[in-house]
Amino acid sequence: MKCKAKILNLVFHRIFLRESDVEDIYDCSLDFFNDLLKEVIKQMKSSTCNYSDFRIYFDDGHESFLELVYPHLTSKLKNRTTLAIITNKVGNKEYISKGNILMFSNKGIKISSHSTSHPGMAVCTEQFLRPTPRGGKYENVETTLSVLLKEEEVRYQLKESKKFLEQIAAPVDEFVFPYGIYNSDIIRLNYQFSYYKYLSTCDEYLDCGEYIRPRILVTSDKSVSETLQKIMSLKEIDKIKLLTKYE
Ligand SMILES: [Zn+2]
Repeated sequence: MKCKAKILNLVFHRIFLRESDVEDIYDCSLDFFNDLLKEVIKQMKSSTCNYSDFRIYFDDGHESFLELVYPHLTSKLKNRTTLAIITNKVGNKEYISKGNILMFSNKGIKISSHSTSHPGMAVCTEQFLRPTPRGGKYENVETTLSVLLKEEEVRYQLKESKKFLEQIAAPVDEFVFPYGIYNSDIIRLNYQFSYYKYLSTCDEYLDCGEYIRPRILVTSDKSVSETLQKIMSLKEIDKIKLLTKYE
């Protein structure tokens, strides 16, 4: 399977001004973010680079994007930026507001859904992805990773978050799976109801424009050079490994 434009999708969460304030491996300092971005741009210009462009994702809709990242983004970088929003968190303390979302969208930043309440949309036990049970109630659920959502609960997360965001910003064509977890039933439901054009994961390979979109989760327990090494070793074959992982 060959593709011409291979895109590197990088996922960030909260950004902190000081390294000492970083609480979680999914968060990083502004210096770490800037250094990694500089290296990614530098690598992209080299002839041996395995990707031709990149996107930067900020998952969950934290306020730190507004305060620390956005003021320094060039127009070119804004066009490469996606915010994955948990719609029930919009306007909460430490999260961005509806007004912020509208402003970002007007400036060329892409707005994607990251569900209404950030549940694990599927459950994986002992390397086995459990199928989504039929039925259930069309309502919001507040859970983390251990409760298996039923079909109607999955549909609520997909549809209501999209509706919320489209009342503020441009059409929303991408859903980012909370915790990166999904199963084939959810993919089928999305297809059946035509909710989203892209379903984004945390599967680690390069993006050739498919409807299941791979993204690389950046963690600050690795240094910038270790992260870069990982990025530069991504190959198309990694995708095959992932697709067979849960079988
Ligand atoms: Zn998330």
